[in-house]
Amino acid sequence: MTQPSFGLIGLAVMGENLALNVERNGFPVTVYNRTYAKTEEFMATRAQGKNFLAARDLKEFVQKLDRPRKILIMVKAGKPVDAVIDSLKPLLEEGDTIIDGGNSLYEDTERRTEDLEASKLGFVGMGVSGGEEGALNGPSLMPGGTPAAYKELEPILTKIAAQVDDGPCVTFIGKGGAGHYVKMVHNGIEYGDMQLIAEAYDLLKNGLGLTNPELHQVFSEWNETEELNSFLIEITRDIFTQIDPETKQHLIDLIVDAAGQKGTGRWTVVTSLELGVSIPTITAAVNARIISSYKEERVTASQELTGPSGKYDGDIAAFIPKVRDALYCSKICSYAQGMALLATASQEFGYDLNLSEISRIWKGGCIIRAGFLDKIKVAFKENPSLPNLLLAPEFKQTILDRQQAWRDVLALAAQLGIPVPAFSASLDYFDSYRRAVLPQNLTQAQRDYFGAHTYERIDRPRGEFFHTQWMS
Ligand code: NAP
Repeated sequence: MTQPSFGLIGLAVMGENLALNVERNGFPVTVYNRTYAKTEEFMATRAQGKNFLAARDLKEFVQKLDRPRKILIMVKAGKPVDAVIDSLKPLLEEGDTIIDGGNSLYEDTERRTEDLEASKLGFVGMGVSGGEEGALNGPSLMPGGTPAAYKELEPILTKIAAQVDDGPCVTFIGKGGAGHYVKMVHNGIEYGDMQLIAEAYDLLKNGLGLTNPELHQVFSEWNETEELNSFLIEITRDIFTQIDPETKQHLIDLIVDAAGQKGTGRWTVVTSLELGVSIPTITAAVNARIISSYKEERVTASQELTGPSGKYDGDIAAFIPKVRDALYCSKICSYAQGMALLATASQEFGYDLNLSEISRIWKGGCIIRAGFLDKIKVAFKENPSLPNLLLAPEFKQTILDRQQAWRDVLALAAQLGIPVPAFSASLDYFDSYRRAVLPQNLTQAQRDYFGAHTYERIDRPRGEFFHTQWMS
């Protein structure tokens, strides 16, 4: 075997599977893990008989790589990434490239890119989506950073990425932290999708009284539709058939309703606030996970705070498609928000993002993969400076056709006391965005009243500011 030029650091779930993916595609790999026992175990099991070299320490690891070295770090995000880079940097030579494939904060990636480029090393901050299975069989890859370093990596990345009808799910995203920024927003959109599906589930189960087999049937049918066919709807469909081997009950009914989170959804909300981009559906999804975590408090409150309950007493079969339409309209709003955030970040940080290409590489390999992304790809290809996805002819018409069903679903949820924060946030986003006049004239009057913050007038050009001595 020829000595590898590709190395991987961090043999946990993601690292192991990515290493196997790279090797399977014809590139030998040198591996290193901080705890050497894990490396030994990997070499004796999954790497057995394949083109891998193992290293006990970083010095040996670097020696076992041909130049220019391409080193993928897959360790816990945060300080461990800096620790690995700091140890690795003095061992590397001009032209070598470090790739960080973890879920790093884009601001950390900006800093690391600057630092490594100043030392004549390439740095690629690469978002990797698709979990364990994607890492092994084809993830969606979002690399950003040093353009020349990406060119070196391109032959490998295009092979290991998921393949869809219009190419591999990888493209150079942009300079600096662009790759990790886009991965972060991908995760924010993923939060939105998951919350919208959870709300549809709540409505179908608690509003319409559907059983798990019936839920399985509904999600199976939705997964066959052009608009909703997706990985997340597919796994939701399957979840309703899983039986707990111990109790023989449906496993879904035994799972505690308190959602965890690792931070990328929160980061998306923080950056949206910093950039002044409205992403209420994604924000609602993050908040829904937070409030779900107040499990004990909610159990107590449920004894104290009464409200409406009960089931829908109308035609259930006729109402199910309305829930589907509400889900789809809400999903369009959520993606409109995510893409608007990317467009603003692109301008603010000089990323020069191609929203059509980004939609394309999300079509396969990643958690939000869906047929629907092709429509977004086309919308931004036809008009790269589209101000909002809601204005793309396809999506505009879809919402106009279905908005009555969407409103009916929200009205029913309110009547039955079923919380639908992401559905509501989406409809509010739509209704706010489509209104030429909002009540913030009053907000401006109040601000000027108590703080002399001034206001603009509808009968004068924008940019001219006025102040009134309100009660004089
Ligand atoms: P992880 O649990 O996040 O990290 C474990 C790995 O980090 C181990 O190899 C560990 O080495 C190493 N590590 C921790 N601290 C270290 C340090 N100070 N110095 C050197 N090595 C250190 O692993 P993961 O789940 O495979 O995820 C890797 C990265 O991919 C993370 O950033 C994660 O957020 C991201 N990601 C994960 C998924 C997923 O589905 N899991 C999906 C996409 C992206 P030891 O064995 O010595 O402890």
